[in-house]
Parts: sequence; structure tokens; C-alpha cells
Amino acid sequence: MDHCIFCQIINRKQPAKIVHEDELAVAIEDIHPQAPVHLLVMPRKHLPSLTEAEASDEPLLGHLFAVSAQLARERQLTTKGYRTVVNNGPWAGQTVSHLHVHVLG
Ligand code: 5GP
Ligand code: ZN
Repeated sequence: MDHCIFCQIINRKQPAKIVHEDELAVAIEDIHPQAPVHLLVMPRKHLPSLTEAEASDEPLLGHLFAVSAQLARERQLTTKGYRTVVNNGPWAGQTVSHLHVHVLG
């Protein structure tokens, strides 16, 4: 998706602080952090939101949460706790139409 800011970041056409990359997912630091740690874990594949995910995307959805937990462990968030948040659609406050998990700690 040419006009998608997260696709541009994934394809290195826009800068971002990338904190994790693998064949399925990329994680970045949020540009406007709402907590001391605020990461965004996103699929390389452009999925506008959870709503568009299909049955074949189930392993990918699981992977996004596995990466979220891995990043939380790396940043020592697991003892005190952290939030994983997915906003879907405008009334939920979704502003970037490329599925992403917020990791807030
Ligand atoms: P949403 O509101 O869609 O759930 O979350 C979008 C998040 O993406 C927001 O927290 C916002 O600060 C972040 N964001 C938007 N544009 C950029 C960008 O260009 N770079 C980075 N690193 N984060 C962004
Ligand atoms: Zn995208």
C-alpha cells in the first residue's frame, strides 16, 4: 500500500526506530509515546485492521502477540505489567489503517 505510513516504514521509505524485524512482523517505537515504553508491533502484510483478518491470518495474529510479549520481556516490563492494545476503526481511535499492537509499559 503506497500511501500507508506503516507500509512505508516497513519498506524503509520513511524513517522509524525499528526495534524488531522478522519475516512476518516489524516493531517500532511510537512517535508520540503514551508511556515510558510504547512500541507498535505490525505485520509486514498490509491488513487495515483486525476486521479484515481471515482464518489464514490466525498464525500471523498469534505471532504479533508473541513478538509483543518478547519485546515486553526484553524491556523488563513483565514483573510490573504492560498493556497490549489493538484499536479497530475510527470510534476505537484507530488513526493508522494498518493493523498494529500497541505495547505500553
Ligand atoms: P492508532 O491510533 O491507529 O491505534 O495508533 C497509531 C499510532 O501510530 C499512534 O500512537 C501514533 O503516535 C503512531 N504513529 C503515527 N504515525 C507514526 C509515524 O510516522 N511513526 C511512528 N513511529 N509512529 C507513528
Ligand atoms: Zn500498510
